[in-house]
This record gives sequence, structure tokens and C-alpha cells, in this order.
Amino acid sequence: MLQSSIEARIGNLLRQLEADGVDAFWIIQPENRRYLSGFTAEDPQLTESSGSLIIGPKERLLLTDSRYTEQAKAEATAFDIITVKGDLIAEFPQILSKIGCRRLGFEAGYLIWGTYEKLRKVIEKEEVGTVLVPLENRVEDLRKIKDQHEIEAIKASIGMITNIIQQVPRWLRPGTTEKQIAWRIEDEARRRGAEAMAFPPIVASGANGALPHAVPTDKKIAPGEPIVIDAGVRLKGYCSDITRTLFFGEPEAPFMELYRIVREAQKRAIEAIRPETPTDVPDRVARDIISNAGYGEYFGHALGHGVGLATHEGPRLSPTKPETLLPGMVVTVEPGIYIPGKGGVRLEEMVLITENGAEVLTKDLGFYPME
Ligand code: ZN
Ligand code: ZN
Repeated sequence: MLQSSIEARIGNLLRQLEADGVDAFWIIQPENRRYLSGFTAEDPQLTESSGSLIIGPKERLLLTDSRYTEQAKAEATAFDIITVKGDLIAEFPQILSKIGCRRLGFEAGYLIWGTYEKLRKVIEKEEVGTVLVPLENRVEDLRKIKDQHEIEAIKASIGMITNIIQQVPRWLRPGTTEKQIAWRIEDEARRRGAEAMAFPPIVASGANGALPHAVPTDKKIAPGEPIVIDAGVRLKGYCSDITRTLFFGEPEAPFMELYRIVREAQKRAIEAIRPETPTDVPDRVARDIISNAGYGEYFGHALGHGVGLATHEGPRLSPTKPETLLPGMVVTVEPGIYIPGKGGVRLEEMVLITENGAEVLTKDLGFYPME
């Protein structure tokens, strides 16, 4: 990761911490940690323990254990690496006294209650006098605006998954199952060098497509029914997330109608995206088109979400809690119509907000030339 990006991010965070009135901030969330330090290790447990950061005006500490010391030194070059030998929480008071931290911010959305209680008690027992200050979305808010390097990484991630999904029609044979397609997508992604899938691919045919987050099954894909394919890869840390609805053979007529409505809703929503637009505006544009066509009750989820180091991050394009869209944000636009027992249609593009509006980063795969 470029050192200049890390410096800019830490600078932005420090300005925020000053406003929050804390001396330092303890960062445990994996994507936040990677964003600020370049440290990529992840330990996929609820009590994620591959490392954490303490950032203050004078301190840049990366606390880890011997499993990750070498990796931390190589990746997080702007940080002092501290290898904790025993229990991190037991050693915390010592670290806090050393840096003279009176008020320590922590990630309230991620620190589990048991660890918080343990830390609070040990601080009290050792009479360090540090106050724990819950903070939320401090790094997540910074992550919403992508820099040029991040945008390039996202484009590369999109390029890979797009090329894979483009192959799907060629894999469909009589008797092909949803699971077979899902596995083939994963296999292709790994062969092409993806670090991981951004999320388990969704391949939902026929009635299963009515479940927005369906899990691929052994169901055989039947001719004419819609197949919702939603997939993304993670490349250099950055995720992609796109959905296409396609058909094996001739589409059943009612679904072509749904497809047309969803496509129209998506196009108009993308046109409504501009800098300074509240996030509920594009959502409303898409929702109105779907409602006016008589399918309002079948579009239950929000229109879209930010994508970056995480598949789902801010800002959310939803009818509630509007935020302001700003240049540098990357969001999905993914309207859908889901008819219980019958099937669903969803289309998902990723767009970059620029000074001039929305730049669509995903490409038309030409499955249905109905523009
Ligand atoms: Zn998706
Ligand atoms: Zn999505």
C-alpha cells in the first residue's frame, strides 16, 4: 500500500480524534486496521485476534503476537510493532501508562462486551486512570471516500468478476445445478488470483430467486426460469459486488416484463446520483418506478450500499437515514422484484460518484440487449 495513502488516512483520523477529545484510538476491526496500516492478516473468529492498532498524535502502535510479527513488520511500515507475549488485555494498562493515555477511544460497534468488561476491570485494578470512550464509525466514515488507488483496486476487482459472470451462460446445460454454477464461479475466481470471494456467490433459479439472499442448492436450473447471480471477488483487499439475472434458453414472458421494470428503475436511479444528493433520492426514484408498475411490495431491501474493503459498507442507499453522496464514494445500485413462489429479478451495478454524476464501473454483459 502506498505510504502517502496511509499518512493521509491517519491525518484525517487524528483530526477526528481531536474533535472527539480522546488521546488515542484502539482499532480492532480488520478492515479498519488494514485501511489505516496496510496490515492484511485476518483471524476469522468472533474475537478476531491477529492484531490491533493504537493511534494517537504521537503513537502508532500495532499490537500483535508472534504468529504475525514478521508480516506486521513487512506490511505496516508506519507502525511500531509490539509483540504481545501473554494476554493483551492484561498488558493493556502498562501500554496505556507508557503512552500517557487518559482517554482511550474504542470501536463500540466491535468490541465484545466480555473483553470490554475485562479491560475496564484491569484498568481500575491497576489504577491507570484511563477512561474508555465509545466511538462509532470513525474509520468507516473515512472509508466511504475512496482515493485513486482504491478506485483502481475496485475496478480490477470488478473486471475479474465481470469476466467470470460473462462465462456463465456457456456453463449452463440441461441438469446443471445452482451449486455447480456457484462452485464454478469460485473456482474461476481463485484461478484468476482472487484472494477470496467477497461473499459466498448467490445462484438462485426459479422460485429460489425470490429470496434476495438465497443460498445455492442442488436444484437443477430449468429452461426459461430466471437465474439471479450475485457475486464478487476480493482482490488486493477490495471487493466487487454485481448481480445479473439471466435465463437458460427462452425467458418466460412475465419475467421479461419484470426485467424491463427493474432495468428502468436502475437506469433512472443511476441518473439521479449526483454529488450532494441525499442517499434516499436514488432509492425513491427506483422504488417509485417499481411501485407504479404494481410491484412495490416485492422490493423490500434498500437500493444499494457502499463497497470497498468490505462488501457492505457506507453509505447505504436506503429510504431511511439519508446521507449525502460525495465524489469518491463507490456504491451499488441494485433494485429487484421478488415474487414469492415464482422467482426474482435483480440487477446490480457499481458506480463511482464523480463531480459530474455517476460513473458506472460495471459493464453491460450484453445478456439482454434491451437498451
Ligand atoms: Zn450483490
Ligand atoms: Zn450488493
